Order: sequence, then C-alpha cells, then structure tokens
Amino acid sequence: MTSPRPVRVRFAPSPTGRLHIGGARTALFNWAFARAHEGAFILRVEDTDQERNTQESLDSILDSMKWLGLDWDEGPGKEGDWGPYFQSERTENYHKAAAQGLEGGWLYRCFCSSERITQLKEELMAAKKNPHYDGCCRGLSTQESEERSAQGEAHTLRFAVPQNEEIVIQDHIRGEVKFHSSQVEDWVAVRSGGMPTYNFVCAVDDAAMEISHVIRGEEHLVNTPKQVMVARALGLPEPEFAHVPLILGTDGKKLSKRTGDTALGDYVEKGFPREALFNFLCLLGFSIDDETTVFGEQELLEAFALKRINQSGAIFDTEKLAWLCGDWIRRFSVQELAQAVRPWMDEAGWQDAPSEQLEAVAAAFQERIQLFSELPEQAAFLLNRPDPEGKAAKALQAEGAQERLGLIAQRLEAGEQFPPAEFDSWVKSLCEELEVGMGKVMQPMRAALAGSLGGPPVADILSLLGREESLRRLNG
Ligand code: GLU
Repeated sequence: MTSPRPVRVRFAPSPTGRLHIGGARTALFNWAFARAHEGAFILRVEDTDQERNTQESLDSILDSMKWLGLDWDEGPGKEGDWGPYFQSERTENYHKAAAQGLEGGWLYRCFCSSERITQLKEELMAAKKNPHYDGCCRGLSTQESEERSAQGEAHTLRFAVPQNEEIVIQDHIRGEVKFHSSQVEDWVAVRSGGMPTYNFVCAVDDAAMEISHVIRGEEHLVNTPKQVMVARALGLPEPEFAHVPLILGTDGKKLSKRTGDTALGDYVEKGFPREALFNFLCLLGFSIDDETTVFGEQELLEAFALKRINQSGAIFDTEKLAWLCGDWIRRFSVQELAQAVRPWMDEAGWQDAPSEQLEAVAAAFQERIQLFSELPEQAAFLLNRPDPEGKAAKALQAEGAQERLGLIAQRLEAGEQFPPAEFDSWVKSLCEELEVGMGKVMQPMRAALAGSLGGPPVADILSLLGREESLRRLNG
C-alpha cells in the first residue's frame, strides 16, 4: 500500500503520567516511519483532561523522548504550520467542527438526562442487549433543538452514526478490519458543558493536521470507526491506520508493574544503555529479518516497514533486555563507556577521578556489566578496601598465605615495571619457585587486593590500584 499523501505521522501522548514502555514504542515506530519516508513526525499533546494533566508528566515525557533520540519536527518547542500542538490551545477548532456538525446534521443535540441514559443502559444490559443510546433525540426537529438550546437546556452533542453501513479499514498491520455501524452507538462528541471527547478531538486534529498515517496501540482499534466517521463527515481525507500489538509480560498478560517497570524513565534511572533500550523497543513487535537481533538506528531506518510489524502480542522479555544491555556495552569504545557511566560513578565517590582513570576502570569491567549502575558497585573495592569474607577470608588464612603475600609484595616492589609486563608468566615462575599451584598465589592475592575471589584479571586490579595501594593491601 503506498500513500499518495506526504507522510505526516503523530505521537499523541496525554501528559497524565510518565512515558510508558508502550508509548515509547509507539513513538519510536512513528518516528521511524517518518524518517524512513522522509516525512514529518509530529508530537501532539493531548492535554484535554485538565484534572489529570501535569507539567511534570509533560516534562518527563519530553525528556524520555529526547533520551531515546526521537526528535520531532513539529510539536512543543518546534512550531510548524499545523499548530498549535497542545489540544488545550485548539478549542476553537473543535467548536468550529462541532458547529459544522450541527449544521451538516451529522451531530445532533441530545437533551436526555444522565439519569435516563444510565437507566436505559442498565435495562439494555439486563436484557443482554448492547447498551447503546437509543437515538431518542436524533429525531428532534431543528427548530425544537435550537429552541431548547437557546433556553439554556443542558445537552450533549452526539454523532449521528450512519445506519446500516459497513466501515472497512485496511490496517497496515492487522489487514482488513470491518465494523458494522450497528456496533457503534450514537456516541457523545461534545459533553454537556462543551468539553469535546477524545474521539472527536483526535479525529478533528488528525484531519486538520493532515495526518497521513495513524500508528498507535491496538487498544485504540475500537475507536477507529468513530474517528473515521468524523473525517468522512468533515469531508477530509481519512488517515491510513496501523495498530501495533499489545505488549505482554512473560506471564502472557498485559504488561504491568508485576512483570517489570513500565515507565521508560525507570530504566533510564537504573542505568540501562540507551542503545539497548532503543533496540529492545524495536523488537517489541518488529524485526528486521529472521536473524538480526542487535541493530541500531541506521539499520532500523533502512529496514523499517509497517508490514514487518507482527499482529500477535509482543513479549516483554527482561532477560533478553539484560542480554542486549551487556551486548551493547561491549560495543562501546572505552571512552564512550567512561562517559556514559560518569553520573553513576560520580554519585558513588569517583567525582574527582580524571577521565583516564575512569577509562581504565571502564575497560577492566566492560565485559562484566550489563547496566551502567553496576560499574560503581563492582568497582567499589578500588575506592575502599573491603573486609574479605567467606572464601576470600579463608584464602588469606590458609597456611603459608601471608608469607607468600609478603614475598609477592617484595618482588613487586623490587620490580622495574608495575605490574610486571608478562604478568601470567611472572606468576607462573613464582609458583614454580615456591613449588605451589597457581591457586595458592592467585587466591590470596585477589582476596588481599579486592576482598573477594572474583572480579577482573589480577594484573588489571594491580594497575587500577597502583603500586602504593597494591603493596599496602598485599602487606596486610
Ligand atoms: N492520547 C491518546 C493516548 O495517549 C492518543 C491515542 C491516539 O494515538 O490516537 O492513548
């Protein structure tokens, strides 16, 4: 399916919370589609819910998008010809469209009280029928409707849903989706008091902003016929649709706090690398081919096509995410890694460390971490000598261990180079001389230097600690 219209897509968050993983993925797919088609990516803020909107939510959504690298062409801070980009500033457009609807007869005033509507719906449900509004006010004459309105009688505006019509949507992901108009009630487009509803403003804006493709979560598929009706009634081209699959936890249920963090910001704060999260979000429903798992922006944009998005639910697999994080960290240059871990290291007491020192630490641990935040934890022994426990304590108490450490310290002190250049053969010859196995030398060394038997190679630990501190620790 090709679109003759210039590609204009939008991400339309409501600023009522932080950017959810699902929202981030929707934003990413819209961004990728726009970039892959040299189109425009629009950020439209759906801030009509005055009670629940907060500036804090908006700021955090924008920060998360910037962090992911999803730059928008029009939206907050980027004025364009289709603005304003906050729905709260577009009220006039909605009033105009509503007036047009009344004039054209596709909207009508409904004076039914909310009590009547509630009772009606209860009765219909009890009779196991669709709880649809019965169209009571649809037949009012224009004169009566105008008079009652002029007298100040409270009313909503309902959409006069075309009767006995099939609405067919060619969804780029789900294929042909058919809705029969009998499935859709005469829905409220403008509430009593004048507040327009989501389906109305969304469709009015999509039409006015000349949105060519609506790419959004599957949960909005049910809204699509209503929005299509509005575009048709306005006599404006309707967008093409692509509904991306739900994100499921590993338990197969809708992603929730139970199965992992749901706000992108949580991952940022925990030190997940941007590249890994970007890559992981792409994999929530999309694939470049049947083999490639690790890819970045360039590869995504070269391959991005809506038809490569799956219909079935995407599993949010945290193990895969952790693996991707580690894989991406290994792809960083030492300088990039040192720069990326800086905030976490600063917080853990490394704020005075020069970049060369941080780079050396980063290099020693690059193979061992999956998150930036793990580096200060793993490297903590370099800053403060820990008390050895468990096996490490035992290694130090073993017979002859202290004597061997004393000898090692002496040799290291006397050596020209610190640590000795061919460290492995240096240790090997020492073991031969002492007639002991490697473990008898290496284990007490690790225990004395790092307080544990794990960590990076001993030669790296020696050079990270430096001659003076290493000797101090070896000498007990
Ligand atoms: N504000 C809606 C939401 O956050 C937008 C839905 C849409 O993309 O149409 O779910």
